[in-house]
Amino acid sequence: MATNQKHDLRCPAHPGPKRGLSGYGGVVQKFVYDFEEGNRDLKDLLGGKGANLAEMTNLGLPVPPGFTITTDACRAFLETGEMPGQDEISKHLAALEEKMGRRLGEPADPLLVSVRSGAKFSMPGMMETVLNVGLTDDSVAGLAAQAGDDERFAWDSYRRLIQMFGKTVCDVPGEEFEHALDDAKHRAGTREDVGLKAEHLKGLVADYKRIFSEHTGRDFPQDPREQLDLAVGAVFRSWNADRAVLYRRQERIPSNLGTAVNVVAMVFGNLGADSGTGVAFTRDPATGERGVYGDYLANAQGEDVVAGIRNTMPLQDLEQRDKASYDQLMSIMTTLEEHYKDLCDIEFTIERGKLWMLQTRVGKRTAAAAFVIATHLVDEGVIDLDEAVHRVSGAQLAQLMFPTFDLSAEPAQLTRGVGASPGAAVGKAVFDAQHAVAMAKEGEQVILVRRETNPDDLPGMIAAQGILTSRGGKTSHAAVVARGMGKTCVCGADELDVNLHKGQFTVGGHVVSEGDVISVDGTTGRVYLGEVPVQPSPVVQYFEGTLDPQADPLVSAVHRILTHADERRRLRVRTNADTGEDAARARRFGAQGIGLCRTEHMFLGERRALVERLILARTTEQREAALAELLPLQREDFTELFREMAGLPVTVRLIDPPLHEFLPPLEDLAVKVAVAEERGEDPGHDRDLLDAVRRMHEENPMLGLRGVRLGLVIPGLFAMQVRAIVEAAAAVPDAHPEIMVPLVGAVQELETIRAEAEKIIGEFAVDVKIGTMIEVPRAALTAGDIAQAADFFSFGTNDLTQMGWGFSRDDVEGAFFWRYLELGIFGVSPFESIDRDGVGRLVRIAVDEGRAARPELHFGVCGEHGGDPDSVHFFHEVGLDYVSCSPFRVPVARLEAGRAAIETTGSDSR
Ligand code: PEP
Ligand code: MG
Repeated sequence: MATNQKHDLRCPAHPGPKRGLSGYGGVVQKFVYDFEEGNRDLKDLLGGKGANLAEMTNLGLPVPPGFTITTDACRAFLETGEMPGQDEISKHLAALEEKMGRRLGEPADPLLVSVRSGAKFSMPGMMETVLNVGLTDDSVAGLAAQAGDDERFAWDSYRRLIQMFGKTVCDVPGEEFEHALDDAKHRAGTREDVGLKAEHLKGLVADYKRIFSEHTGRDFPQDPREQLDLAVGAVFRSWNADRAVLYRRQERIPSNLGTAVNVVAMVFGNLGADSGTGVAFTRDPATGERGVYGDYLANAQGEDVVAGIRNTMPLQDLEQRDKASYDQLMSIMTTLEEHYKDLCDIEFTIERGKLWMLQTRVGKRTAAAAFVIATHLVDEGVIDLDEAVHRVSGAQLAQLMFPTFDLSAEPAQLTRGVGASPGAAVGKAVFDAQHAVAMAKEGEQVILVRRETNPDDLPGMIAAQGILTSRGGKTSHAAVVARGMGKTCVCGADELDVNLHKGQFTVGGHVVSEGDVISVDGTTGRVYLGEVPVQPSPVVQYFEGTLDPQADPLVSAVHRILTHADERRRLRVRTNADTGEDAARARRFGAQGIGLCRTEHMFLGERRALVERLILARTTEQREAALAELLPLQREDFTELFREMAGLPVTVRLIDPPLHEFLPPLEDLAVKVAVAEERGEDPGHDRDLLDAVRRMHEENPMLGLRGVRLGLVIPGLFAMQVRAIVEAAAAVPDAHPEIMVPLVGAVQELETIRAEAEKIIGEFAVDVKIGTMIEVPRAALTAGDIAQAADFFSFGTNDLTQMGWGFSRDDVEGAFFWRYLELGIFGVSPFESIDRDGVGRLVRIAVDEGRAARPELHFGVCGEHGGDPDSVHFFHEVGLDYVSCSPFRVPVARLEAGRAAIETTGSDSR
């Protein structure tokens, strides 16, 4: 009986052979490949497992014969509900039967096959596998005979098939089989599966078959070919299982690839003491050390190893047990490493003393192992340094730079937010920046907890070990500033109900009060109650110059790979830094100058009073007096930066944010003034402040009076900063100042500020470059004009993304990006990784038109994207001269800039 049921088909009757699709566009398409026909380069078509089984077959390694049904077939099946290539499957099955000298499910001497998934990218445990396909009521006896009259083995194999097939193909709840198995063990008076004898298993098969028909309304299929077809369909469908979809989203694996299916002659590791199954790595995937690592389980099938039902033994012990197989395995592992030029992981089975290879692939590894293995392979002459740089990533290096939590004691998780600035921080919860400073002065470790942070919180953020906010995303104030400082930060933990007045937050029934210890993981976004132990990063100790690279194999590997990346990269790497301390650290981390000093960060703390005076000034004299007091302070700031970066360029950006950010919040002031007036007191200064706040209030401050607009509106403000920069530069040997104007949208804005600055610069004998940020879309689109007044462009991709997409950078990530990610509108937040097609296009236009108008123009980027691995590749491609990023991102950017250069020019050993 043929059916046309689609994806929801639940264990249908056999559809019967269907005509194979003749492919798309009239070209006859091949849907099935014998292992002899494939190779490792065909992963798109055959999936990783199929391609590597083919590769091993062609290397002459002992792989059980089989064939692969392609990912094309999967896609066609998922689209139409019909299995393409039925005739081809029949042909390849016949060839397999011929090779094995047995027919699928033949009662007297059955061939059994495994039906395994295998996508292009490994998705461990996400999709389905069915073993022992072909076994029926009629062929159990034949299997027992084949196994040397081992009835127990045959009935055990049959019950495994019904269980796996029932669950995978027909959605029978797995617990039903588990319960029946437990009952059987109970009746047999044993706790172990192996304690069940043939007659027990026979009874269990009857139970399983009953469960199967109760749930499916049909008998367990007794036609071996029907079993095969249904199993193949189920594996294909498992591509769209919820867990697989979720995994792909997390790992950014495209959803339209589909999986291949491998149909492989069964070999058995559960045929007695001289059989078994194992997994092995050619090097330690945790540390990268040379040597053989693996586990072996005697008298077992692969699923037993994964299920952890019995304790495995170290692979080395196999040598005593079965020296011939062990030696053969070692030699195969050497062959595979030489062939793949990388760490391989392997699954194998020994059937009655005969070794079979069931899988290999270039193995996953930790970040530490990636660096160590890459350099070991260089030393062994297997790859060159270019390839070593290519094989590691900035994301892995970043991982190695953070202190981490030791989670072995499984601490209680309170909640989870956005992992905004990685690291592991422990301290007492504090809800107020000043209090954080005071407690830190007394030697306390604190975590600053706020709804969101603002520039006023900076001293508290500096004093704290970590920052936790209930609002805001990865480009919120808290996130940007914390990343700049290399400080742990979790933002947007929106389950937190933060009560600043009471000094506590509540979450999930817990109340955490000021002084309670919490632990914050800025990598995962997890927040824990109590103290979780922290381990420091040796890689950071090396960058800081406190650890000799030769003292630690991992650090030595990082050192060698980074040194080579530096030799190969074209992009220079600068840092975003506003303090001497940050500048010095960034320089130790390899920064080649400062690409962005945000001068507004210099107006906090005690200097706020001066900014208030500037804002409240009613006369020119009052304003000039405030500016005159700010001048020496700014000069000192810049002097420190120029000293720390002597010999290297320092880009100072004139003040950017709206000035009222330096005034107290409107509501607080209004209440204060009202209360004073109510009491008949004179609010005095507070009333002036309140008037100023009201006067300067903006509905959209991000689009308001900030950046160059401030410079044009408040006389003397930019001039004071320019003077401070030039005076500092004149006093510091080998200073290379660059003045940058923020938020320019029209060349006239820049021309006006430039003319004013040049007058001041002309008073001194210093060479100062003047350039602009390109962070307003109009600036990018009129870059040819703006270039006429600029020595350099620095892309402010935070604002460019905000204004390009119309996304408020402080709000949207926490508010609704989850939905955009779910819908696949983008795979990653455009604030994190540059949107190449949109915002990136603006960058490209500005580079091309700016360079065409003025060939000597320099280009850099100083938005958060400057330290993002993917974006660094983009900036390399569009031809920027440098990227600038927070000090802790500098090594990541160095590495990725090297990788980008190598990818463009290629490496011999790849
Ligand atoms: C930017 O907009 O990308 C930028 C660097 O400026 P800020 O983040 O200070 O607005
Ligand atoms: Mg900006």
